[in-house]
Amino acid sequence: MKESDIRPAELLREYLRISASDAEVFFPASQPETRVLRACPACGARAHRIAFHKNGFPLAVCTVCDTLYVTPAPSPDRLADFYSDSPSQRYWVNTFFPAVEDARRERIFRPRVKSVLDILQKMKITANRVVDVGAGTGTFLQEMRNLGFKGTLTAVEANKDLARLCGERGFETFSGMSSAAVLDPAWQGKADLAVSFEVFEHVVSPEDFLRELSVLVRPGGLIMFTGVSGDGFDLRVLGPRATAISPPHHLNFPGRRGMQALLGRLGLKEVLFLTPGVLDVDIVRNALKDDPAAISDAFVRHLIVDCDEVQQNAFQTFLTENGLSSHLLAVVQRPE
Ligand SMILES: [Zn+2]
Repeated sequence: MKESDIRPAELLREYLRISASDAEVFFPASQPETRVLRACPACGARAHRIAFHKNGFPLAVCTVCDTLYVTPAPSPDRLADFYSDSPSQRYWVNTFFPAVEDARRERIFRPRVKSVLDILQKMKITANRVVDVGAGTGTFLQEMRNLGFKGTLTAVEANKDLARLCGERGFETFSGMSSAAVLDPAWQGKADLAVSFEVFEHVVSPEDFLRELSVLVRPGGLIMFTGVSGDGFDLRVLGPRATAISPPHHLNFPGRRGMQALLGRLGLKEVLFLTPGVLDVDIVRNALKDDPAAISDAFVRHLIVDCDEVQQNAFQTFLTENGLSSHLLAVVQRPE
């Protein structure tokens, strides 16, 4: 898989341009009430250094757990307005996502379902009820059904239009935020497995978010989520040029150490921490194509410019297998 399969260069460039413009409109530095100062979203420490700025937001590195995070971050109220209606969100929903939906179904959602079913089987866990938090169009749930999952598939989705679509596609759906779903007795502690894909990096409080996921599963139930790892190759090499570092959309980039600190604070048990991403080298290659000054490190330049495809693929495999890709997948367990 190449980055352009799921993020065509032209569409990605336009999306990033609109996002940067939205950042100025929705969260202007001249209106401090649109932003909130945060401690480290992983370990809770306040000690940090500012590494760089992106889209007008400072990116801090926690001096305790090395998590990269945005602070001040967008305020939760303004962020809700931003997601309910903004040019970049409209572009994502109306233009970007439809253009890549088929490719993503094949290259992301189907393999994702296979790995979820594989993990459940290896752990000898029977999941009768699954909840997808931030279910979007319901694609993951559809693929679960297509690949033969027989249990009950449910959705929590904050966007009203998407929630309606999940309902129409036959999934029991809570229309609203996960913070509201956890207050509904019909949803508390009901699922054997909660999944959430590419939501973690967007939320102002990952701690609250994971706590909500743990309330949605029964005691002993599993939570599986993906995010963006700050340990990842493309983030470390590209810094501010990394397209995944994109406030106001992406705000949290914990690595392994940050994630362990966060789970420890919540009393959740780490079952698996994987970085199944396969695009890091390709992302760095594309960044160098766009900007010859994107990489200063001599070894990485050599890897990208001079090494052949076999060497680059082997290096990507090394990243994927050793927790060093920027796409992370964690499986954690709520205590019995
Ligand atoms: Zn920290």
